[in-house]
Amino acid sequence: MAAPHVSDPSCIFCRIVAGQIPSLKIFEDDRALAFLDIGPLADGHTLLIPKDHHADLRDLPQHTLAAISAHLPRLATAVMSATGATGLNLLQNTGRSSGQAVFHVHFHLIPRREGDGLGYPWKAGSYSAGAAERWQRQIAEALPAL
Ligand code: AMP
Ligand code: ZN
Repeated sequence: MAAPHVSDPSCIFCRIVAGQIPSLKIFEDDRALAFLDIGPLADGHTLLIPKDHHADLRDLPQHTLAAISAHLPRLATAVMSATGATGLNLLQNTGRSSGQAVFHVHFHLIPRREGDGLGYPWKAGSYSAGAAERWQRQIAEALPAL
């Protein structure tokens, strides 16, 4: 028998996984669940989650990420072909400052089309001399061990 999922009874997505509150499911297997976002940014906005509870992307075991992300290409295909979208944003919010509201890791698949008014104000900056190399070194040195 499969092991029970890691679950937090106070987590709304764990309660969806457990069938305690309803959701409009698109797909599920032992490890992953995809369902419609209840507050869509566009028709067909879909969430992909691991069935195990992990609050934050940084806590997500590699094998769990591998198991759920394996479904991204086919899920993106389904969301785009069903909605007729010409593009799609894959979005993952980590931390309240990023907009994360539900602390169970999830990936948003947001259908996009020309002129839909969605998306970030993408104000690309630039680095002063030496700054990019400093960030490169500091981030590389901060990588946790595998
Ligand atoms: P985030 O801001 O990245 O944490 O996104 C959380 C998302 O979960 C939002 O887009 C909500 O609309 C969505 N959401 C919250 N509760 C539910 C629910 N019961 N069923 C489906 N989606 C939900
Ligand atoms: Zn949870």
